[in-house]
Order: sequence, then structure tokens, then C-alpha cells
Amino acid sequence: MRKWGQHFLVDSRIAQKEVAYADISHNDIVLEIGPGKGILTKLLAERAKKVIAIEIDRKLAEYLRTILPANVEIINADVMKLDLSEYQFNKVVSNLPFEISSPVTFKLLEETSFSKAVLIYQKEFARRLVAKPNSKDYSRISVVIDYKAKVRILDTVPRNAFRPVPKVDGAIVEIIPRDKPAFHVDDENFFYEFLKKCFSHRRKTIGTIIRKEYGIHLDEEFYRKRIEQLYPREIGELCNLVFERITSNR
Ligand code: SAM
Repeated sequence: MRKWGQHFLVDSRIAQKEVAYADISHNDIVLEIGPGKGILTKLLAERAKKVIAIEIDRKLAEYLRTILPANVEIINADVMKLDLSEYQFNKVVSNLPFEISSPVTFKLLEETSFSKAVLIYQKEFARRLVAKPNSKDYSRISVVIDYKAKVRILDTVPRNAFRPVPKVDGAIVEIIPRDKPAFHVDDENFFYEFLKKCFSHRRKTIGTIIRKEYGIHLDEEFYRKRIEQLYPREIGELCNLVFERITSNR
């Protein structure tokens, strides 16, 4: 595996497609995570008011400063160590480093607000984002995404569009945050922790997990089910029941 997931896009048609999907106008301020050698950044800079590009590799960041126009702000940093709420942008366009696909997606959803993201992920990860219950791809991130946003796979990207060629194909994914979450949860942080606990024991029954993790028993129908069988909204209802029981016992 390459350091920092450096598989660079070399097929300019894919870069053009990705930027077209993002529908960039001269009012947009775009966040790009991992600009690499700048194949997307150049196209974004031609269309957007401003591009904020965060690149961890110092040499690449220095190189980008020499080739990109003045409306691109290059930040040489690890995106995972930044507080993204300090930056103003309304769109996100990136070919994400594979190693941080999951944490960076949670970070974007939890820390920032934007109107649209168009992101290249590995195809397997993209499938998890759009997965429905009762499938092996259905996971914590499928639920968080559905709670916060509408997501769809727009296109696939063959692995030979990258150099070095990765082991798997990619996919272009669109994420559009909802104006308000898809369903109500009493406490968001509790909900996120609840999802972590439940999905780390996905083969156990919900009753077993809740008893073990929270020491309570609720006599509900879905207690005999497994978390992977429930729709996000049902998981939200279950989480609220547990939260109410715990807070009323205090
Ligand atoms: N956007 C470029 C392209 O399409 O050719 C590069 C994509 S490459 C898959 C991922 C890029 O993210 C690399 O340039 C890598 O150095 C950078 N990167 C990896 N981890 C990062 C992190 N934690 N913070 C910021 N950039 C990172």
C-alpha cells in the first residue's frame, strides 16, 4: 500500500466528469481534501470563486503553490487534525485517500456544513455508504449518512484511471446533506456512540447488546433482531428508548 493513499488520477475525463457533477459556479467555495498533483484542483479553480485544498504531503503542497492560480489556498496539513468548522466552504470535491475514507466522511458530516459533496471513494466503501438493511455492506456509516444526508453512486471509475493502479475500482459518490436529519434522535452524541456499540457486535441480538452495554432490558419486539436488520429510522427509535430509560433512571 502506498503512503498516504497516493493513487493519482491520470484520466482527465474522470476529473472533468467529477467536477461537472459538482456543478461548480463562480460563487462556490470548494474544499478539496488531498489535491495531490492538482488534476482536480486546476479544473475547480477555473470555475469556483475559491478552492481550499488540504494536502498532507509537504513536497506536493509546495509544488501545487507553484502551479495553481491565486484563488487556491493550499494548506499543508493532515485533514484529520484540523477543525474543519473553522473553514468556510459550500461544496466538497475530492478524490479521497483510501485510508481515511471512513473517518474523513464522519468528520465532514459531523463538523461541517455544505450543500453538496462529490467524492471519489473505493467502490467497496461507496457500496457501504448506500447500503440497505440485511446486506453485508450495511454498517454504521450507512446509518449516519442516511440520518444526515442523501447519498448516491453517480459513476464507477476503473482502477486504470489511477497511477499507480490500485487493487480495486473507484466510484464517484454524491452526498447532499438534508436540511434537517431524516428522523429525530434525543441526543446525537449518544446516538453515534450507540451505533458504534451496536455495529461492533452486528451478529448478536439487540437484546444481548443492550443488556451488556447499558445493563437494561426493554421488552420490545426488535430485541430479538440484529442491528443489521433494522432501518436507520428504527435504529433511531431504539436508541431513543434506551436513552430515555437511562436518563429516567438517573
Ligand atoms: N486528488 C489527487 C488526484 O485525484 O490525483 C490525489 C488523490 S490521492 C488518492 C490522495 C491525496 O491525499 C494524496 O495527495 C495524499 O498525499 C493526500 N492525503 C493523504 N492523507 C491525507 C491527510 N490525512 N490529509 C490531507 N491529505 C492527505
